[in-house]
Amino acid sequence: MLTKQQRMIILRKKQFKAESKKLLDMMINSIYTHKEIFLRELISNASDAIDKLYFKSLTDDSVTLSRNDFKIQIDLDKESRTITLSDNGIGMTAQELENNLGTIAKSGSQSFKAENAHSDNSEDISVIGQFGVGFYSSFMVADKVEVVTKAFGDDTAYRWTSTGADGYTIEECEKDSVGTTITLHIKEDNENENYSQYLEQYRIDELVKKYSDYIRYPIVMEMSHQVPDPEKEGEYITEISMETLNSMVPLWRKSKSEIKPEDYNEFYKSKYMDYTDPLAVIHTKTEGQATFDALMFIPENPPYDFYSKEYEKGLQLYSNGVLIMDKCSDLLPDYFSFVKGLVDSADLSLNISREMLQHDHQLKIIAKAIDKKIKNELAKMLKNDREKYEKFFKAFGLQLKYGVYANYGMDKDSLKDLLLFSSSNGEYVTLKEYVGRMADSQEVIYYACGESTEKISLLPQIDAVKEKGYEVLYFTDEIDEFAIQMLMEYDGKHFANICKDDLDLSTDAEKEIISKKNEDAKDLLEKMKNILEGKVTAVKLSNKLGTHPVSLTAEGYVSLEMEKVLNSMPGANQGVKAQLVLEINSNHPVAEKLANADDEALAKYTMLLYSSARLIAGLDLENPTEFSDIIAEMM
Ligand code: ADP
Repeated sequence: MLTKQQRMIILRKKQFKAESKKLLDMMINSIYTHKEIFLRELISNASDAIDKLYFKSLTDDSVTLSRNDFKIQIDLDKESRTITLSDNGIGMTAQELENNLGTIAKSGSQSFKAENAHSDNSEDISVIGQFGVGFYSSFMVADKVEVVTKAFGDDTAYRWTSTGADGYTIEECEKDSVGTTITLHIKEDNENENYSQYLEQYRIDELVKKYSDYIRYPIVMEMSHQVPDPEKEGEYITEISMETLNSMVPLWRKSKSEIKPEDYNEFYKSKYMDYTDPLAVIHTKTEGQATFDALMFIPENPPYDFYSKEYEKGLQLYSNGVLIMDKCSDLLPDYFSFVKGLVDSADLSLNISREMLQHDHQLKIIAKAIDKKIKNELAKMLKNDREKYEKFFKAFGLQLKYGVYANYGMDKDSLKDLLLFSSSNGEYVTLKEYVGRMADSQEVIYYACGESTEKISLLPQIDAVKEKGYEVLYFTDEIDEFAIQMLMEYDGKHFANICKDDLDLSTDAEKEIISKKNEDAKDLLEKMKNILEGKVTAVKLSNKLGTHPVSLTAEGYVSLEMEKVLNSMPGANQGVKAQLVLEINSNHPVAEKLANADDEALAKYTMLLYSSARLIAGLDLENPTEFSDIIAEMM
């Protein structure tokens, strides 16, 4: 037993790390309307701590508790305005207390830093919702928080105390058993906020049922009920008993008919730290080659770290209700990396290691089944709720396109009907829809590439194709053309880039005329090619440019867009070059001007036309100064 004096010596006052302090300030002054979530956060931490100790008990005989001994207890004290949560989980060492409660969770704090650059009070809601700030949410309802904890395997217990943003203290203290007890000193009510509600039994009971019903350990609380007095008829007495508030059945194990949409949404938001309801819920119970329950969610928006290297895909893996792995990446293909959720299967051994799991036959069967379920769900959404699917596709479509291209196109056939593209019709279209409405005379699927749909619609080549009544797919993502080349064809129809030299829209008669024109202008065109000194493989007269004077097209396999992409990849040595053809509109007055120009003028005109064509194609000018000099001179 420590004397009071000894205790004072180890009492240390510490400041929170800078970001943590800002976050805390936000909590304390929060206008967040869902302050009630603090309870869910604390219960979830307690449950995690019990999970850890329970897990240890499976292999460590020194854990004397067995499965049924674990519980979370809530005590309310209206007089002292406290709510106390006790768990007999793994507890925290002094160092862990310092690390875990002195700073906010690492992932949270990093993203918080990024977000914080433009944060003001009004944005705290999204910060809280997005990062699930966990333990700190206590400060939304409490003006003082005490944590008394004793770690498994540690002889000493510690008390962490904080009244908020001005720091915290850690001191040794007495605690008999392993685990953690958290006491919140509830704030006084004010005109905006009724904090006293959190000292009411019925309210806590309600909150546990709402947010934490599925927690696998009993959450117990002393409840008082009015019951008829057995001795005096017509009178009532108060009976007090310890009650378990939660049903303890994980949501995914309940039958679907028992579950309301809100139950899924709440579960998703609290477990996967999102503040918007999921776009779709997939809940399946599968029996057969593999027996498992799966509960998966398609988020409405990409998680905040989705495009960062830190993002890890995966589903939680449970064996008979016990968590065995937090992010099992083998359960999800990369193109579905945005899917959140879990799989629970009795077929998997509780003690299976990460390495073993990778080779587990059962797991492979489950992964395959899951892949199919998600695809079916998306196909269903595409069919029945187009608006929702387009929303989905805007958020995650890129993943699916990469999926078509990745692994040498292994998954292309199962993904191709889930793709959407913008089109010259001004709407999103699937390949099936495109092919379904192709004109009789149309043999290929036309597409054009560019930075944006606006820029593509201004390409000189577009008009000629549209004039024929053909629809053009607009490829605005770098991956689009690669994915399409992997597909090679859809429903027997090949794809044609309208900016490629071999685009063929002409009738035989038209072809004859243009080929004669080219023949007649052979010397001129050859001269122009020489002026361009190898920058193009040919200069040609064209009949497919509508009213526009020039354009650059590419010959061969590599298109202009692909050249840009391939050369922008890390490690590229600018080696990939599209073979360019400069096309001159044979029906445009410039064609005649060229024919009549002397050598000096021809050199200038050629440079000008070539440079403008590069600009239209979205390429840099090789020599902008020369370009501007020639223009000025001609003016
Ligand atoms: P998160 O739960 O997202 O990691 P929190 O701020 O809620 O963030 O908690 C931080 C850490 O503190 C937890 O990861 C856990 O290690 C520790 N912790 C919190 N509550 C408890 C508890 N009741 N028992 C043991 N450790 C806890």
